[in-house]
Amino acid sequence: MDRADPLAHAHARFVLPENLIYLDGNSLGALPARAPAALERLIMREWGRDLVSSWNAHDWIGMPARIGARIAPLIGANDDEVIVADSTSVNLFKLAGAAIRHMAPRRVIVSERGNFPTDLYVLQGLERLLGGAAELRMVERENIRDAVNAETALVALTHIHYKTGAIHDMPALGDAAHEVGALILWDLSHSAGAVELFLNRDHADLAIGCGYKYLNGGPGAPAFLYVARRLQEALQQPLSGWMGHAAPFEFGDDYRPAGGILRQLCGTPPILSMAALAEGIATFDGIAMHDIREKSKALGDLFLALVERRCPGFEIACARNAEERGSQVSLRHPHGYAIMRALIDKGVVGDFRAPDVLRFGLAPLYTRYVDISDAVDRLCAVMSEGAWRDERYRIQATVT
Ligand SMILES: *Cc1c(COP(=O)(O)O)cnc(C)c1O
Repeated sequence: MDRADPLAHAHARFVLPENLIYLDGNSLGALPARAPAALERLIMREWGRDLVSSWNAHDWIGMPARIGARIAPLIGANDDEVIVADSTSVNLFKLAGAAIRHMAPRRVIVSERGNFPTDLYVLQGLERLLGGAAELRMVERENIRDAVNAETALVALTHIHYKTGAIHDMPALGDAAHEVGALILWDLSHSAGAVELFLNRDHADLAIGCGYKYLNGGPGAPAFLYVARRLQEALQQPLSGWMGHAAPFEFGDDYRPAGGILRQLCGTPPILSMAALAEGIATFDGIAMHDIREKSKALGDLFLALVERRCPGFEIACARNAEERGSQVSLRHPHGYAIMRALIDKGVVGDFRAPDVLRFGLAPLYTRYVDISDAVDRLCAVMSEGAWRDERYRIQATVT
């Protein structure tokens, strides 16, 4: 399978430790091979030599829009609809805040119970801040469509579920929101760089997403956000900092939003992190998202087939049908935490999500079929040897 893989060459675009099978690119993408030299160049020549003039000379000031434009084709958006800024959590606050204000007197935000925690926490914060002007309704996944009605201001959902990999029907839910006059916002943290996305075609209004997962932008990389052209002039985001001002270097007293996507900025961009993210996005150069998706489905199918054949005792906690699954597979086991720790000690890095889910991310640019086969072999060994029963695997670390 690796010999026939059209993406096999992309493995060399990354630095990965030998003998380590890394199946956690959905939490932190691998290091792009060109990133260290690119960062060193930026630090020594731009920061070290050209100092503050680099904002103009090396167009540091243009990085958020320039890198955003490179993310746009990966998510099915126009170049001027995406910008890189802040974190995913902060971008959700900005866009949901802008949407709720725009939709007044409507005040209801519909989201999903079991959504990624930060999404719910940020929406709860907005609800508290706005008092009576916002109300969060968290509903079960299967009831979302029924909960969207003429009171709804915003439907805020994560496209691919972080725990189960389940995919929402983006066009159908977009239509459901628009039929009642509501806006829809997608969190693409587990989607961007992992699956084909068509934000324009699927009538997405707003979106946010993560830079450090499948986009390989490095730990704590800046996030991105998307605003459809038709909404860009209508929305005013609440973190109205100077970088989103129409003329930041006039230093005036009154806020006047920039045109287009630029008004979504708040403060000064973190240039070193922006440069690392640019290298992460460059790992997609010349590669079609369609090919990434096809390989991702095949990797997941192989993983599940091998687990079922070689390693009984796990419940499969993701869809068996690859079409309904993001770029990850999840298994359930009552001793999941200890098993994952023991597996990591055997050189296979996945992660654990409470209470009992073992999660394995598939990053088709650097995950090989042989990695999947070896990973399942080592998982079987952990089970048959009972390695996970060791005392030291019981104590939970701060970050799982
Ligand atoms: C990873 C992830 C985030 C991360 O948010 P940060 O602000 O970067 O901590 C947000 N939402 C979802 C759905 C995620 O998977």
